[in-house]
Amino acid sequence: TEFVPELLPRTRRLMLLVNPCGGRGNALQQCQSHILPMLTEAEISYNLIQTERQNHARELVQGISLEQWDGIIVISGDGLLYEVINGLMERPDWEDAIKMPVGILPCGSGNALAGAINYNAGFDQAMGSELLLNCILLLCRGTVIPMDLVSLTTCSGIRSFSFLSVAWGFISDVDIESEKYRHMGSARFTVGTMVRVASLRTYRGRLSYLPVLDAHRPICRSITLSPNGSLAPFQRSQLHRTISDIGLCEERNVMYKRSSTALDTNELPSFESPSPSSPTALHSSSFNFDSLSDDPSYQDSVYSKDLKPQRHHQVNGPKDDLLPSLGQPLPKNWIIVEDNFVLVLAIYQSHLGADLFTAPFSTFDDGLIHLFFVKAGISRAALVRLFLAMEKGTHFETECPYLTHIPVRAFRLEPLTRKGIITVDGERVEYGPIQAQIHKGLSNLITG
Ligand code: ADP
Ligand code: MG
Repeated sequence: TEFVPELLPRTRRLMLLVNPCGGRGNALQQCQSHILPMLTEAEISYNLIQTERQNHARELVQGISLEQWDGIIVISGDGLLYEVINGLMERPDWEDAIKMPVGILPCGSGNALAGAINYNAGFDQAMGSELLLNCILLLCRGTVIPMDLVSLTTCSGIRSFSFLSVAWGFISDVDIESEKYRHMGSARFTVGTMVRVASLRTYRGRLSYLPVLDAHRPICRSITLSPNGSLAPFQRSQLHRTISDIGLCEERNVMYKRSSTALDTNELPSFESPSPSSPTALHSSSFNFDSLSDDPSYQDSVYSKDLKPQRHHQVNGPKDDLLPSLGQPLPKNWIIVEDNFVLVLAIYQSHLGADLFTAPFSTFDDGLIHLFFVKAGISRAALVRLFLAMEKGTHFETECPYLTHIPVRAFRLEPLTRKGIITVDGERVEYGPIQAQIHKGLSNLITG
């Protein structure tokens, strides 16, 4: 009989991008000892490419032929995936390219997405090689689901796409300052946190956001989770508490509706939240850092370090229909908070690190930016408690009055403190006003 190759399931072909400098620098050893043998066992064919420098992965994925690959896998931390996603978005065929399934095998110091994938699969929270093994197994299984991306614009007009977080203040400081403890692996963040707590800083800024819920009319106070819900069982009770605390997001509501008598579907999120801010705060466009007061505690060299000029300029992507340009005033239904902050964090995954379960209610394609901020005034002890509780995702139970969480579709952050660090997916970006909007399910993630 005639051989018809098209009828046979063909083996999956993955492009593996390994950053030999990620984390403690042992990604290549991990490939030899664990990753490649398991992929071979699963009859997956692959090409292994070592990244040689920053932006190498970003440039590489711009030139590949999409039909040749079933997925691009980064073997590094979250930073390398940020490059891959932006590389795909920079292609003229970005609409097709961004649908290329992407995956991650945690070999960096910041392994937030791997933590989220591990949690989504129902595994216990894990670190190090345990997390890596879970992620290799999931990659071999290969289920792909949509993942939200956030479009970001910084003050020089540079646009980029982010899958994880935007951080300013405490978290971005720790992330960048702890680079010097890189040899410690992810423990660098613990050490960095202690150092930063010891000399706690506050940052003045204006944070504006478009809430998903009417902030003055919290809904879904008492949803009962279905026992057959698709959540990992070991997290269910905890999630239940968290969800009823914050009053939740639409897609999850729909998911839980069947078992809930408390939920009134007429009370789904409304965009017409009154803005409590003063009208003058709306005209906040022109930024002149020279006119701002300088805090003497910012003399740390890390703040004055110049960021390398960004060669890459994102022009593609879906339109940010919720955002006026950075210099323009925001619509009336936005809420504006001008205050002194210890940190501002926008996160769109459940995890901020493999052991930081920051947004337990977040899912890959909930279409939400989970905006957190901690206001100045919090004690050092309370801040440490908050981060310790975050390991289990119980930080909402500390009922810290300085911590706020709001699900939003878009936000604008205008630092009013002259020096500071802003990170996107853990990578440092230009310091200054930045704004963002979520694009639901724009990319595809291999979650297993
Ligand atoms: P980690 O979590 O350890 O920081 P990341 O994946 O975030 O790991 O990678 C950190 C940075 O390393 C990224 O900005 C990436 O561009 C850069 N990078 C990639 N390959 C190399 C290389 N060969 N040498 C130095 N830096 C690299
Ligand atoms: Mg999300």
